[in-house]
Amino acid sequence: MEKYKLNDLPYGYKDLEPYISEEVLRLHHDKHHKAYVDGANTAQEKIEEARKNNADLDFKSVLKTLSFNVAGHILHETFWKVMASANSGKNKPAGKILEAINKEFGSWERFKKEFSETAKSVEGSGWALLTYHKEHGENGALNIVQIEKHNVGLYPEQKILLCLDVWEHAYYLDYKNDRAKFIENWWNIVNWEEVEKRFKN
Ligand code: MN
Repeated sequence: MEKYKLNDLPYGYKDLEPYISEEVLRLHHDKHHKAYVDGANTAQEKIEEARKNNADLDFKSVLKTLSFNVAGHILHETFWKVMASANSGKNKPAGKILEAINKEFGSWERFKKEFSETAKSVEGSGWALLTYHKEHGENGALNIVQIEKHNVGLYPEQKILLCLDVWEHAYYLDYKNDRAKFIENWWNIVNWEEVEKRFKN
């Protein structure tokens, strides 16, 4: 099986300042995200090795590790893509995604409030997601999902349109314990062009 790979960020390390500092972005991408990629590959290798030798394996343990690391890798890949510099001109929601948000949540303000509350209220480490479920009803449905760690609470068949990492490593050096302030500032660097692209696909 092909190895999981850490891609470069789609922008420079300073480009999300002042909302996310270069220091945090470097640690987050080069250390934390890399650790999930490495963890996924190590778990995958254990499975392949056991398969090759027709050996026993502690499936419960190795699959738990694999799920945590693969989900961590995919969420971080998505997280980097759904952000862009506050000067990029991509930070205003518009078009089809804004229409869908207004329809599903009643208003943009309501959506923002629900998403922010979801992120704020994650117990310990986790994520807030905006997802799309195309099998749900005639036009599909937008959902807000709260994830613990990287993988607890995920629904199957939901395409991730937007995600926000609220692990302490995502904000502590910049905001200390003020997760709410991080979330409030993060809205300035959402890449709505990318979110809409993911929604249309
Ligand atoms: Mn993270």
